[in-house]
Amino acid sequence: KQPHIRKPEWLKIKLGSDVTYDETRAVLQQHCLHTICTSGRCPNQGECWSRGTATFMIGGAVCTRACKFCNTETGRPLPLDPEEPRHVAESVRALGLKHAVVTSVDRDDLPDKGSAHWVETIRQIRELCPGVTIEVLIPDFDGQAELIAPILQERPEVVAHNMETVRRLTPVVRSRATYDCSLSVLAQIAEAGLPAKTGLMLGLGETQEEILETMDDLRQVDCSILTLGQYLQPTRRHYPVQEYVHPDRFAELREIALGKGFRHVESGPLVRSSYHAERHLL
Ligand code: SF4
Ligand code: SF4
Repeated sequence: KQPHIRKPEWLKIKLGSDVTYDETRAVLQQHCLHTICTSGRCPNQGECWSRGTATFMIGGAVCTRACKFCNTETGRPLPLDPEEPRHVAESVRALGLKHAVVTSVDRDDLPDKGSAHWVETIRQIRELCPGVTIEVLIPDFDGQAELIAPILQERPEVVAHNMETVRRLTPVVRSRATYDCSLSVLAQIAEAGLPAKTGLMLGLGETQEEILETMDDLRQVDCSILTLGQYLQPTRRHYPVQEYVHPDRFAELREIALGKGFRHVESGPLVRSSYHAERHLL
């Protein structure tokens, strides 16, 4: 059994308590929406919600996969809620967001794995919230181009798909997903002429060499936006943290990534895929 590693000072979290935070929570509750901020127990919730930013999670709250680092509930999901795309759009409007970030659970139970629901969500936001930029963080759809292309055809401003970790650790911590499949999803995004973005968690036991290798693989498929953040164990049942990476190393990795040609890199202990997402726009 792994010894428990103490959390360093730099990971102490600021809690949000001001008016905007409460308003954000009220709007989300009113529309019965799920956010990754809450279900992922994101450490930035105070900061983001206080600024009026939230990442919506569509497709329900139950995922068909069971990644070892993820706090989302696993099981047999409920049927899709056809009202959900409109509710997301209404919330984006009510929160006055300028940049909307949307992600979803994986719906391997559905014939189209949720592709049409994604398309409808983007359309509803476009219709109700003109001028709002949209970032989607999509599942791998098992790499199936016919399910990914319809989403890309809606031309979201940024399309993200997270690698989560290096090649060696992918089968250890991710469920069903493969490293090469995720690379192929990013390749499809870039080939469609859209900014391809990905995120890696550090502290899962990866080596420096493996991180650099992953960066090279990402540049090969023209992925241009990268986020690097510290993995935090959501509960004792989840994969244990192997290392708390020092902020200086995050800063160093950012410089290395920029040197390899990534256009935008967010790197720091509390960085999450959707953290400061609005800054990734051209
Ligand atoms: Fe939500 Fe993303 Fe901010 Fe975390 S970083 S609170 S998931 S918007
Ligand atoms: Fe979590 Fe994995 Fe499901 Fe994504 S696919 S919501 S990371 S369990």
